[in-house]
Parts: sequence; structure tokens; C-alpha cells
Amino acid sequence: MPLRRATYRLYPTQEVSKILHYHRRLHKELYNSAVCERKVAYQKFGRSVSYFDQQNNLPAFKEVWTEYKNINSQALQATIKRVDFAFCRFFKGLSKYPKFKSIRNYSGWSYPSFTGWKAHSTGDNGYLELAKIGQVQMRGKARLWGTPKALGIIYRNGKWYASIVLEIDKTLLKNSRQTSDGVVAIDLGCQDAIAWSNGTEDGLVAAPRFLRKAEQKIKKLSKLKRRKRSPNYKKKVKASRRWKQVQKRISKLYRKVANQRQNWVHHQTTHLISCNSVVVTEKLEVKKMSAKAKKRRAPVGSPDHGSATRQGKRKKQKAGLNKSILDVGMGMIRSSLNAKLDDVNGVFSEAPTRQLKPSQTCPKCRHQKKKTLDQRVHECESCGYIQQRDIASCEVLLLWYSNNLSELGTSFVDADGSSSTSGTRSRKTAGSMKQLGQLKRQKSTLIGLDAETSPS
Ligand SMILES: [Zn+2]
Repeated sequence: MPLRRATYRLYPTQEVSKILHYHRRLHKELYNSAVCERKVAYQKFGRSVSYFDQQNNLPAFKEVWTEYKNINSQALQATIKRVDFAFCRFFKGLSKYPKFKSIRNYSGWSYPSFTGWKAHSTGDNGYLELAKIGQVQMRGKARLWGTPKALGIIYRNGKWYASIVLEIDKTLLKNSRQTSDGVVAIDLGCQDAIAWSNGTEDGLVAAPRFLRKAEQKIKKLSKLKRRKRSPNYKKKVKASRRWKQVQKRISKLYRKVANQRQNWVHHQTTHLISCNSVVVTEKLEVKKMSAKAKKRRAPVGSPDHGSATRQGKRKKQKAGLNKSILDVGMGMIRSSLNAKLDDVNGVFSEAPTRQLKPSQTCPKCRHQKKKTLDQRVHECESCGYIQQRDIASCEVLLLWYSNNLSELGTSFVDADGSSSTSGTRSRKTAGSMKQLGQLKRQKSTLIGLDAETSPS
């Protein structure tokens, strides 16, 4: 059964809001003490503490810190799991050593199963019943409603949210989206966010530049903030009330930009899928693209050697380009397309950019010529074909999909096989919460076996 997430805004009464804040603080303290336990055990005794040790200690912990008796025990386990997750990521080299969190950086807690809470809703508004906390009004709309499976309570920018994981019926999911059997190739860029072509028609979608538009306001507010007393936790200086006020306004603006972008991405991808169930695009790695500017060492003796200004300029240029890349939300477009195509059993196919070179190949005669980034028009020197650059590369992608570029040795079948085996290195992950749940079950059955065998 497929799972989908629906997010609701919560409207707690003042009384309930107090309890919610109190619980969030308790969860944060638990998180920190779990991190502390692992840290001390390793530093002082050279012993590593596992998730199971900490989970088994929870009942004893609750005897000492009685306020935790009022919290759902599975929610407490989920918080311990978060610590384990953070350490897993650290051991695999994916992130730094887990930090102690301040309440500012601790967003909330989660209920990993359906106990301890109940959602009274049919998808449109409703209310949430939290055990030992109370009832909370919810507002929002799920695209599809199903059986609630898990819940996350989140506090962000002064607002409470509920994120509900729903198990949704497969046929319902499939019928929920309108689609057709067209094939479209898209090319994502900075100037024109999306260029698309389906062989007979093509078009460009201008980049919305939400961040660029809000930048002036953000800059103004940042200047205002610099004139207030900022916090310095090492010197035990607290932020002034006015500093906090301005900070709040800034984060509100950033949140707005993010919401605008997300909304735009959803509109565009739904529109693309409304008449196409196959989308072809080139493989792109947003993380690599938006990496910091490379340090290039100037040759010794040249006038450029050791000049910091040149380096600074390059850094700024790259930073500006990165902002444009991230402002379009290419990664978001990709993952959203992927998810939506998955709903309708469509195909999302990625061409290998390096071998195919879609932006340097002529779709009519396959003549290859390198273009610089500012060359916006494809003008073939061997057959005279003129087309907008991004649309031309879409046409190449379409050809690749229909297997017409086999002479380049990158046919659809080949590329699919190579990408899974010898292609880019698969991403390292620290597993998921679900895997941890399976782990727990295995362990507990083992203990059960021990108990059964030992007396006999
Ligand atoms: Zn040509």
C-alpha cells in the first residue's frame, strides 16, 4: 500500500499550546540526555551505547524523571531513534558528530504508529486528538485521505503543524491524477526554468525568480538587524527583543519564498503530466552544480598570482549562479515529477548527460559543436538548423528516448543498464526509521528464543 503525507496547520487553544510547548521541551531534553549518555559512555568507559540499551532504559528513566510518564512511550522511543539516526549518519561519514540541541533547533516529536493519537477528519479540516494533551483543531486539505499511520508534530516559525502519514488505496491514487500517453522531453535551466518539446510542439517557461524578487526586502531587513544587539552565546550575551523581532520578519520572508517556489513547482509538474505519462530529461546533479567555486591556483610568477580580488570575484559569480539554480528548484521539479509519474505508473527517464551531450548536438544531423553558456540559440554549421538552445536539446533527448541515437552508443537500453551498475556512485544513506523498526523486531525475537531455550 502506498504511503502519502498530508500536512495540516494546527490551532491549539492557549491551554493546549502550553502543554505542546512543554512536551516539546521534554522531548528535547530526552534527546540531549541520550546524546550525552552515548558521549560519556564512550569517552570515559570506551563503551558504545546502542539504541536498544537506551530504549530498554526508558522505563527506569521514567521512574526518576516522573514528568515523562505523561508522554506517549512510543513517542519517546521515536526521539531515541532520532539520536540513533544521527549517530548512524555520523558513523557513515554523512554528517558531523551529533550536537546537543537547543529548543530553537528542536522542531517537535513524532508518533511512529497509530497509538497515542487520533485524527478526526476525512481529508478536509477536522481535529486531532492527542492522548494526555487534548484536542487540537486542524486546518488544511489532504489531496487524498486514507488510513492514518503515523504522525509528526512540528513547531515552525511560531506555528504548529501536524504531518500525517496516510496509507492510500492504490486505485484511488491512480485515479486521482489526470494524464495521457504523450511523451515529452524537458530541459531545466536558469534563464528559462523549463524548456519542453514533444516533437510537434515546444515551449519555454520563464524562471519565476522568487528569491531575486524578495532579495531587496531581505537585504533591508538584514541591515536593520545588524543594528540591533545580536546574541553571542559564548559571551553569554542574549539577543535583544528588537533583534528577535527583525529575525522573525526575515525568516517569515524566506518561508514565503519557499512556499511560493513549492507552489509553482507543483503547478508546473502537474501541468506537464496532465497530457504526458513519459518524461525524458537529462541527469543533473544539483549538489555538484551548486558546489562552491573551485579554487584555481594561478601559475607562479603571473601577475594574477596571490591576488585575492580575482578569487573573490569568481566566488561571487559562482554564488550568484548557485542562487539562480536553487531559486528555480531544479531538484524539487525532478523529485516532484518523479513522484507524480509514480502515481500514474508513468515513466521518468534520465539521459546520461556526459555521453549524450544534448546541448551540443544538432537534433537534425547529429553534428556536435561545443556551445558556451551564453549562446542561447542553436545554429548548426553543417545543416543550418536554427532553434532555441534548450528546445534543441529537448529534441535531442526525445530522439535518444525513441532510440534514434544508437550510433552514439547511448541507446535507452544501454544507459538504463549502465546507470544501475557502473554509473554514478550510489548515494550513501543511513537507512530509515522503518529499517530500525525491523531491527528491533529481529532482536526481540532472538531474546524470546533465548528465554525459551534456557530453562529447558
Ligand atoms: Zn545540423
